[in-house]
Amino acid sequence: MTERVNKLKEKISGLFEACTTIVEKLKLVDTLQHLSIDHHFNKQILAVLSSIHGTEFNSASLHEVALRFRLLRQQGFWVSPDEFNRFKDEHRNFDVDITNDARGLLSLYNAAYLFTHGEAELEEAILFARQHLESMRNNLEYPMAQQVNRALHLPLARTFRRVEALHYISEYKGEQTHDPSLMEFAKLDFDLLQRLHLKELKALSRWWKDLYNGEGLTYSRDRVVECYLWSYTAYYEKEYSRARMILAKMIALIILTDDTYDVRATLEECRKFNEAIQRWEESAISLLPDYLKKLYLKLMNIFKEFEDELKPHEKYRVAFSRKAFQILSSNYLQEAEWFHGDHKPRFKDQVKISTVCSGAPFASVGLLVGMGDDVATKEALEWAIGCTDAVKAFAEVTRFMNDLASFKRGKNKNDVASSVECYISEHGVTTDVACAKIDSLIEDAWKTTNKARFEHNELLPAVQRVFNITASMPLMYGDKKDAFTFSDGLKGVIKRLFLKPVLL
Ligand SMILES: [Mg+2]
Repeated sequence: MTERVNKLKEKISGLFEACTTIVEKLKLVDTLQHLSIDHHFNKQILAVLSSIHGTEFNSASLHEVALRFRLLRQQGFWVSPDEFNRFKDEHRNFDVDITNDARGLLSLYNAAYLFTHGEAELEEAILFARQHLESMRNNLEYPMAQQVNRALHLPLARTFRRVEALHYISEYKGEQTHDPSLMEFAKLDFDLLQRLHLKELKALSRWWKDLYNGEGLTYSRDRVVECYLWSYTAYYEKEYSRARMILAKMIALIILTDDTYDVRATLEECRKFNEAIQRWEESAISLLPDYLKKLYLKLMNIFKEFEDELKPHEKYRVAFSRKAFQILSSNYLQEAEWFHGDHKPRFKDQVKISTVCSGAPFASVGLLVGMGDDVATKEALEWAIGCTDAVKAFAEVTRFMNDLASFKRGKNKNDVASSVECYISEHGVTTDVACAKIDSLIEDAWKTTNKARFEHNELLPAVQRVFNITASMPLMYGDKKDAFTFSDGLKGVIKRLFLKPVLL
């Protein structure tokens, strides 16, 4: 399989040179990304998009203009929304003749979701495209019908790409211009990677069983496969095996610590636990009751093991992740103080703490720890721990989607007042108003995350990984369901990603 992959890879590399027009190049990049084999051609793709960004483009095809817009913005190249003006009349309404162009509308819709703040014309484009796609969705042919239905449920920019790739690999032969070698390559690559992912899952499960059963932690959620899935949404590529394993373990630590604060420890124990975590030295175990002693030592050990896995010049990264973990812990303690004191904080204060408690800021630092020098620079680590723009937005999307899901299901008895509840009580509004407000904050966060790609050119590889995990949140918490905690909903996805061979 590996031999065949290498042969095909060489052949596909040649396709870049064979492209003569901008449109051909755009379509090649789009296909590679959609089939999730773009990771083999990162350099070529960047070179192609960079050259396209610097070249004038005058197409009369909505699909082509929207495709260019989306691919460039995704890669951190800014494109003006005015590009779509050529499809509008003098009153700034979209032309009637594009209302029957399913492919064009779908591309417009998916492109417009790369909006940032203050781009009302892109929000209008989404509404316009949505309205027309909805009216034609029952009359479309395979595979366009499937693609439109998926996008209407969740736009491409908020879709976890590996799951979308599985759909697309099987649909690809239905595309008029499909290339059999691309299809074969996509299947082989997915199947080969799956073997690696399964190996990692096996090792991680052993690690977890040891920890979970050995240390008396069974009060916590037993969700190691979901932790791995979460890590995998940041990076699935072969070269990030080390990073993926470290991040999956860190996410498992988030869950363990969260549940320790929420369901196991008394308030006094929470305070001591946090004190020990802030001190981070073995002598601090004297503060703790037995069950926390074990957990505390284990935590220190696990961070030590992360260090052991890194090369000498990389080890300093673990100090960043430890600091981020200490920040997480003190925010968990604040929640515990509120909960045990029966205090309903102001909305603003609640969001400040609970977004950190989502684990997203810690995960943003943690995802860098095992990556290569090209991504995990000191600047990137400082950016991540600073919890601004894309990291903050990741935390908000995670927190708010989780809160909307929990609110719908009904509160857990040990949960602190959620953002939805705090908003309702502070503003004296109905549930619907509060949920609409939270929804609008989620939209704001997506805009922030889109904008971050244009703002940090040198940090872009780190920003993209944070973006990847953010885009997996609808998989975890979409349709107002917490699939992470009540993980039956994730079983199908997990099987398709890690167990079942790809069907062509
Ligand atoms: Mg909690």
